[in-house]
Amino acid sequence: MATTMIQTIPPDPMQPATAPRVVIIGGGFGGLSAARALDKQALEVTIVDHNNFHLFQPMLYQVATGGLSSSDITTPLRSVVHKMRNLRFLMGHVTSIDIAKQLVMIDNQALPYDYLILATGASTNYFGHQEWAKMAPSMKSIDDAFKIRRMVFSAFEAAEREPEPAKQCALLTFVLVGGGPTGVELAGAIAELAHHSLTGDFYRLDPAMAHIILVQGPADILPGFPKALARRAARKLSQMGVDVRTGVHVKDVGDGYVMIEKEKFAAENIIWTAGVKASPASKWLGAEADRDGRVRVLPDLSIPGHPNIFVIGDTAHAVQAGRPLPGLAPVAIQEGKHAAAVIAERMAGKKAGSPFHYFDKGMMATVGRSYGLVSIGLIRFTGLLAWLAWVFIHIMFLITFRNRIIVMLQYAWMYLTYERGSQTIIPSGAVRFMDEDYYDAGYSKE
Ligand SMILES: Cc1cc2nc3c(=O)[nH]c(=O)nc-3n(C[C@H](O)[C@H](O)[C@H](O)COP(=O)(O)OP(=O)(O)OC[C@H]3O[C@@H](n4cnc5c(N)ncnc54)[C@H](O)[C@@H]3O)c2cc1C
Repeated sequence: MATTMIQTIPPDPMQPATAPRVVIIGGGFGGLSAARALDKQALEVTIVDHNNFHLFQPMLYQVATGGLSSSDITTPLRSVVHKMRNLRFLMGHVTSIDIAKQLVMIDNQALPYDYLILATGASTNYFGHQEWAKMAPSMKSIDDAFKIRRMVFSAFEAAEREPEPAKQCALLTFVLVGGGPTGVELAGAIAELAHHSLTGDFYRLDPAMAHIILVQGPADILPGFPKALARRAARKLSQMGVDVRTGVHVKDVGDGYVMIEKEKFAAENIIWTAGVKASPASKWLGAEADRDGRVRVLPDLSIPGHPNIFVIGDTAHAVQAGRPLPGLAPVAIQEGKHAAAVIAERMAGKKAGSPFHYFDKGMMATVGRSYGLVSIGLIRFTGLLAWLAWVFIHIMFLITFRNRIIVMLQYAWMYLTYERGSQTIIPSGAVRFMDEDYYDAGYSKE
């Protein structure tokens, strides 16, 4: 029987051979924040990611609806890493971890570690209906955003050619399943496309005929936001032409239709914005997980029995005041810094790591091109000022100066003109070919 040889990935030649090795899996918000906090320490730090870029997920909805290009919200990890002396980047898909031998497995290669930080984020949760993924794509990655962009703009194009009114109606029906920030932001952006950006672009078709349905199981959209704000957001969406349906559930999704409770809608565009589950990190570690697959971590973010392994961000279940912390970028960023600080403590000989405390800076969301919601403690406001606050704060979190400038200009242009300049879609045949190559390389279809 043929056995596969496991190769060991050579150490970073720029670092002293005696430097302890820190491996960070995931170059997202949590992983990058940990790497930055470990800069200038006598360590060999390696970030491993299966993408060669950092993705700014909060602005993905703009890529999906033609407002921004992918390069506006991504940053090459190699360009981030080369600025830090003790850090290197390796592109690769992590498949497992050998805890006993302290090895991260990247296909048939092994990367040794002394300290490990897992920051592999989350994927979409179809709550036991994985078969719906084919009909109702989600929005977690750049690839997903391109698929949704293709779906949205192709729908308007096909509707322009469609002679049968019923089919045209189905082509122009957009159903967003899940009324969290992603569903709300996408619904607002599609409504603006239909009612403003595409106005006058077609000969036969009035894009404003689009029926945009936002489906939310609980009684209010935007769970986690104060009820009064969530209701204002729902009213704003209705004014923009979105059919907001709360307290109802999607019972079935099929080819060209969706069942909302007992009502069947012919819909060619169904987008899943309902739930997340953690990456498979808990399986790699054999660690206890919550029902969403998030690894239950100790107060210092390490895992029980392994003081050198930390789990952070969307893939960690960290508890504060008796409740799990939400899957938000600031949580991941603060946890990344904390894991780095605990590693420094361990190296200094301190056994018990300091407990992590999340500093909650509040919540924000946008509805369309000029309306936002802000909730910071008792300070709550909505409207243009809240939208400006959302835009400026999110722009500041973009990694590079180039992206900050470009995104600021794009937002200003969209605000003034409603124009969405990134409507390029690749014909579906070509994309299907690309997708197969991509998935053949071992990536998950989720
Ligand atoms: C559409 C959308 C909008 C959002 N909007 C907001 C918002 O407005 N405000 C907010 O605070 N939060 C928002 N979030 C949530 C926020 O983006 C996440 O909480 C945050 O990204 C979590 O950071 P992380 O480091 O845990 O994971 P991520 O940032 O997701 O990073 C995980 C990294 O791990 C890599 N990876 C995963 N598996 C592997 C593997 N097997 N091998 C190698 N690499 C791997 C991935 O490529 C990725 O780079 C949004 C999320 C989405 C999807």
